[in-house]
Amino acid sequence: MLSRIVNCVRDIFSHKAEIAKTPRVIRREEHRIDPSLVSIEAKKTCEALTRRGFKAYIVGGAVRDLMLGVTPKDFDVATDATPEQVKRCQRRAVIIGRRFKIVHVIFGREIIECSTFRALQGAGQRKDETGRVISDNVFGEMWEDAARRDFTINALYYDPQTEELLDYHNGFEDIAAKRLRMIGNPEVRYREDPVRMMRAVRIAAKLGFTIEPSTERPIPKMASLLENVPAARLVDEVLKLLTSGHAVACITKLRAEGLHKALLPLLDVILSEPDGEEFLMLALRRTDERIAIGKKISPSFLFGTLLWPQVVKRWRYNEEQKNMSRMQALHNASVEVIATQCQQLNIQRRYQADMHDLWLLQVRFERRTGKNPYTLVSHPRYRAAYDFMLLRSLLGHVPERQVRWWEEFSAADEVRRVDMIAEAQQEARQTGERARSRRGSQHPQVEGEGKTHRPRRRRPRRRHPTNKEKSVE
Ligand code: ATP
Ligand code: MG
Repeated sequence: MLSRIVNCVRDIFSHKAEIAKTPRVIRREEHRIDPSLVSIEAKKTCEALTRRGFKAYIVGGAVRDLMLGVTPKDFDVATDATPEQVKRCQRRAVIIGRRFKIVHVIFGREIIECSTFRALQGAGQRKDETGRVISDNVFGEMWEDAARRDFTINALYYDPQTEELLDYHNGFEDIAAKRLRMIGNPEVRYREDPVRMMRAVRIAAKLGFTIEPSTERPIPKMASLLENVPAARLVDEVLKLLTSGHAVACITKLRAEGLHKALLPLLDVILSEPDGEEFLMLALRRTDERIAIGKKISPSFLFGTLLWPQVVKRWRYNEEQKNMSRMQALHNASVEVIATQCQQLNIQRRYQADMHDLWLLQVRFERRTGKNPYTLVSHPRYRAAYDFMLLRSLLGHVPERQVRWWEEFSAADEVRRVDMIAEAQQEARQTGERARSRRGSQHPQVEGEGKTHRPRRRRPRRRHPTNKEKSVE
């Protein structure tokens, strides 16, 4: 109780006293936003509202990106119309959210998120004993909405009709100076929502901005507040961070700020595995590269990569200590890792199934004979699994030859495919690979320890199958 009162008093003195209520109006000649970068749908959404006498502006990351000359990935609109009024103004719109309703205005595949100005501190706002806001649902004035936003550069309002920019907190100057500055008192704002610390790191890394000293200073000492944040929210933020196109820079900065520990049980687990760090950084570098050339990254691929060192560890254990077949050992390892990590990290079920496929298909790349190559290349997750194998090969965990073989096979015509399988069969016969795979007793590659397949001694075939032979594969 006492701490709640202290926090409240601190809030009043540190934030409310200095809140700007009138914006600086910046005209087109000064802000130089290129109107052709503004989505037609966002413009239409605003027009439909202003036509009925409401205020409506493009806000948030989109305005920031427009000012930097970057095409925004999505557009948010803020308005003084209530969600019900917004819905009535638009042709297709749905109200979503229970606590604080927002409206999704739908234009085919494009969705404009439209929210009503929020009050600064209304009757509906409740905080927990650490100062974290746990519920708030009151509509407010535009200046309040601006003051509630996190950073000055995220609190710019753009009117696509007049092409004016409204700036309450000197975000315009901060963008020019490449500076990320918290609105209000940073400590109070981090306490209200500790995720803002992660956002600071992500946005600064993504834009190449520096975090202004008073915004940055409290972060290391407040990092532990992230432990109070619900896992689902953290995972969302981690995904945003890893798919920002600047994942390497983000993770490096997170670690420098001491944020990674509290925030990612995942990161700790990965980094404590042999090769974990190398694998993580390589995966993130590849992710950044893919995003830079406009390729998509799926969350299941990312989580699949991040958790892989753990899967390998258990895979090896299951095979060597529990005497399981190679496939069974991997299957069990995957189930175990998903059971322990996905629950903790709140990774959605549909991603879990994809991760499981991604991992299990890795074993099938080792078999280049019979029907396996045909069924594998037509598997819906083949492309992702192939990319994943490529990643493993970059660390020396899979022979390059194997990657090249699959690359050629997937692109080859029917005649060439038949030849390739015949060659692989011949090779298997020579090396005894076929006999080994039939016995299902090959050792796992020692990912994370050695760099290549462990060479196997040939063993004479036994007449009676062992337990290992009877198991699944
Ligand atoms: P991105 O480019 O990743 O979308 P963004 O700034 O647009 O970055 P969003 O999560 O889309 O991030 O949020 C939209 C806007 O909502 C932000 O620009 C900011 O004004 C406001 N906002 C988002 N999260 C917070 C928060 N935790 N605290 C205060 N304001 C926030
Ligand atoms: Mg956004």
